[in-house]
Amino acid sequence: MKVLLWDIDGTLLNTDRAGLYAWMEAAEEIHGTPLDASLLRFAGMTDPLIADITVDRLMNRAGDEGIAPRLLARYAELLPSWLPRRGNGFVQPNVLATLEALADEPGYEHALLTGNLEIGGRLKLAHYDLLDYFVWGAFADGVPVRRDIARLARAEAERRHGLEVELFVIGDTPHDIDCGRAVGARTIAVATGGASFDELERHDPWWLLEELPDPTEFIDRLDRQAS
Ligand SMILES: [Mg+2]
Repeated sequence: MKVLLWDIDGTLLNTDRAGLYAWMEAAEEIHGTPLDASLLRFAGMTDPLIADITVDRLMNRAGDEGIAPRLLARYAELLPSWLPRRGNGFVQPNVLATLEALADEPGYEHALLTGNLEIGGRLKLAHYDLLDYFVWGAFADGVPVRRDIARLARAEAERRHGLEVELFVIGDTPHDIDCGRAVGARTIAVATGGASFDELERHDPWWLLEELPDPTEFIDRLDRQAS
């Protein structure tokens, strides 16, 4: 069995920064004054890590441990209203065709490996009509380190399909490549989001792409990897 572990933001879709807007509204509401969003770099970061950085660096309230959970909860409440308000979001090229082409293919399974909270990830995918393609997912709830999310994904893949399961991690940042390599997955990097082609190349993914290719080419390359 080949399990495709998809990252969400920058890989499957682009929300036109709906997540950032929901995040900053939640943070400013809880903090009580405007904050400087430019201090945050979201790409490839997990939501719990972004929460900690927001509390420590934007709010200067390090050590105030009650804030991060409130922030994450409020973000999840605000995200549904921001997704439709950010009108320039889109599904990345060839994503829908690739998900569709492999959806009923024996020997393949779509799953998620994401730094999103489960509720946030589901909301984003549902907004762009992609949610139903994914059989299961490894999310960031309570897991700030991406490599640990990848370890959860491997454990779940092995529980479902046995030790011979073959993992592919598809993502748009060096963090995706790093966490995929950490669990023995083949890494597929797409320069459609948080990192340039050249930056991704320095992290030596198994397959580096400007964007997802035509599904035929994609499936051909994966089929040639014997299980
Ligand atoms: Mg991403």
